[in-house]
Amino acid sequence: MDRLKDKVAIITGSARGIGFSIAELFAAEGATVVILDLVEEAVNEAVKKLTSQGLKADGFTGNVTRSDEMEKVFSSVVEKYRAIDILVNNAGITKDNLLLRMKEDEWDSVMAVNLRGAFLCTQKVFKVMMKQRSGVIINIASVIGLMGNAGQANYATSKGGLIAFTKSCAKEFASRNVRVNAVAPGFIQTDMTAQLSAAAVENYAKAIPLEKMGLPVDVAKACLFFASDESSYITGQTLAVDGGLTMY
Ligand code: NAD
Repeated sequence: MDRLKDKVAIITGSARGIGFSIAELFAAEGATVVILDLVEEAVNEAVKKLTSQGLKADGFTGNVTRSDEMEKVFSSVVEKYRAIDILVNNAGITKDNLLLRMKEDEWDSVMAVNLRGAFLCTQKVFKVMMKQRSGVIINIASVIGLMGNAGQANYATSKGGLIAFTKSCAKEFASRNVRVNAVAPGFIQTDMTAQLSAAAVENYAKAIPLEKMGLPVDVAKACLFFASDESSYITGQTLAVDGGLTMY
């Protein structure tokens, strides 16, 4: 119950879906969680859902692709809580299209949120964590970043890049006692996958050894492992949470 007691955790893109589930589990384990997302009402609603359960949560509105906005958020959190122990780079988008038809904006916007967003937030939080000489960063990648996928060259490239980013940061930050790991979800039931047809879901499920889609909380549990001292000797790793879909 108290695996993250007194820790301060920022989770990007956490007003709903996997990010919200991570925030809820971290808060249930004793952390003060910062919900960071694009739309103020959604942020407020998510914070209310947590505080009404007696959990500790705060909310900030901002776009992870905007350096100025992230600077404000991270400095406000440090000023208010005196520390940032955990960052989860979870905000992510898809803009699927076959490569021949892919618009430049579909490529650029996915890179901006999924990669530039993680870069900006990591750079800002590391300035705090290197002074603390402790911290944990978790990047939410995807099995698509491991396997590739037709119609998702932009998304696959961004998530593969995030895995390489994880390893580079793990090497760079290790001497400051800051660990960096990635979680690669498979097919998880959220708004992002809700637009898939029932037939597509059935097809995907057939390819998954455990024969079902995952839940946001399945991803949250892997994040809790990386956020807690239970993984204190693990850095630079990518853990697939995918019902066995990828086995490398
Ligand atoms: P979702 O679309 O339900 O939620 C994403 C959240 O990120 C939203 O609240 C959205 O407002 C926020 N967001 C988007 N752009 C943002 C920005 N620029 N700044 C701040 N917040 C922003 O998605 P999800 O399914 O919960 O996915 C969460 C993460 O998990 C993503 O990185 C996604 O790529 C990854 N993932 C999801 C699945 C899946 O099957 N759902 C599989 C693999 C990986």
